Amino acid sequence: AKVRIYQLAKELGMENKELMELLDTMGVEYKSHASTLDEETAAAVKEIVAEQKGLEEKKKAEEARAALPKRPPVVTIMGHVDHGKTTLLDYLRHSRIAEREAGGITQHVGAFTVETPQGKIVFIDTPGHEAFTTIRERGARVADIAVIVIAADDGIMPQTKEAIAHAKAAGVPMIFAINKIDLPRADVDKVMQDLMKEGFVPEAYGGDAIVVPISAKTGENVDELLDMILLVAEMEDLRADPEAEPRGVILESKRDKQAGVLVTLLVQEGTFRVGDYLVAGDVWGKIRAMIDPDGKQVKEAPPGTAVQVLGFRDLPEAGTAVEWVPDEVAAKHIAEERQEERKAREQEEAERRKVKSMADLLRQMQEGQKAEINLILRADTQGSLEAIKGILAKEETEDVKINVLLEAVGAPTEGDILLASTTENAAILSFGVNPPGSVKKKAEQKGVLLKSFRIIYDLIDEVREMVRAQTEPEM
Ligand code: GDP
Repeated sequence: AKVRIYQLAKELGMENKELMELLDTMGVEYKSHASTLDEETAAAVKEIVAEQKGLEEKKKAEEARAALPKRPPVVTIMGHVDHGKTTLLDYLRHSRIAEREAGGITQHVGAFTVETPQGKIVFIDTPGHEAFTTIRERGARVADIAVIVIAADDGIMPQTKEAIAHAKAAGVPMIFAINKIDLPRADVDKVMQDLMKEGFVPEAYGGDAIVVPISAKTGENVDELLDMILLVAEMEDLRADPEAEPRGVILESKRDKQAGVLVTLLVQEGTFRVGDYLVAGDVWGKIRAMIDPDGKQVKEAPPGTAVQVLGFRDLPEAGTAVEWVPDEVAAKHIAEERQEERKAREQEEAERRKVKSMADLLRQMQEGQKAEINLILRADTQGSLEAIKGILAKEETEDVKINVLLEAVGAPTEGDILLASTTENAAILSFGVNPPGSVKKKAEQKGVLLKSFRIIYDLIDEVREMVRAQTEPEM
């Protein structure tokens, strides 16, 4: 239908003059604001106005974000056993305490802050990948940056690869710290070569992988590492709104005989205050007290701080997102609702597991696009791994891609289960090594496919079956 200019202006919430200017730029002719526009022109005007509004809103949102205060980066340190993670964390923790007044009893809250002249850095010192990975299931992440520690006398080892796979899967930027450079047998160049084999070309070799040789023992070059962390943080442009609705993540939770449930919470957005109600998964609580890493009681915890919280009713799982809720009624309601949901889900999973075979699982994948099979390979020796990979490469077809998420020597670990459970269509296949019972149980809980083989060709057959299930039409 035709419409007069003043009518359309009103409809779009514009001044007549504004609309007429727009019509001028569009080359539309008119006599006055009472002129009529044909249907096509009116539609075109609407489209342009909507587009402009979208752009404006986007710009406003960007401006609003840029106006938010910066927050410190949250860093996790990972790497192979004995490569120096604990030593580095200790060094960082002590260097920081030395700068403060002595006498304060430091509290282990699962994270601590290092202050540098260029800004603060939060280090997570909870063991393992748990807090780092679980959260991905809920679409958020704990760590902004991963420091991968590699001992200069040992090079890249299975758990180094595991750490790299986790950081990659979570989309977290990595910094490689080549540690133990104080040792006479340290060979930094060899580690650099190792990194290149993994596809990371160090800056020194013209690539963009950030590599810092350090000694966690003597502290040599650790300042340089901190600088690099802040540099990466700067590029990531990390900001948080202290006034927003508070949100965080559980780093650790344990039961203390005296204090009851003790939970470490990393605040990611907003400010938690004593007296607030919160929900973590299907557990709720009211903040009775908060203790900072210096052992001080605090009333408020702004973004980028880790605090120990007293007042949870039960043990929430590490990695669970924490939400603020207005009152006890809401807290209880949400927690109960989730408990029921979880029960229902567990039942459903149990049912599904009964009928689910590898082929069934893979058949669930979407049609149309190239299907992907994501594998975590575990074997007794590097030689077996190479052999398996060599054969698998030939099993790829035009329709089905085989990705190896992680290949490592040794039995499957809980870390593998987490990686598989947070990646679509993933399975863990092991050759010549058996997963411990606890890992098997975890796989069952998470509904992750975990299979062990004694003969390489049985493993290959399994993969072949998976590939075939992809290409064959459903029954
Ligand atoms: P983690 O298993 O990765 O936490 O490794 P640790 O921090 O426990 O370190 C394992 C061993 O390596 C310990 O004996 C440390 O003293 C030693 N270590 C760690 N960093 C260095 C370093 O920079 N230089 C030397 N010489 N030894 C180190």
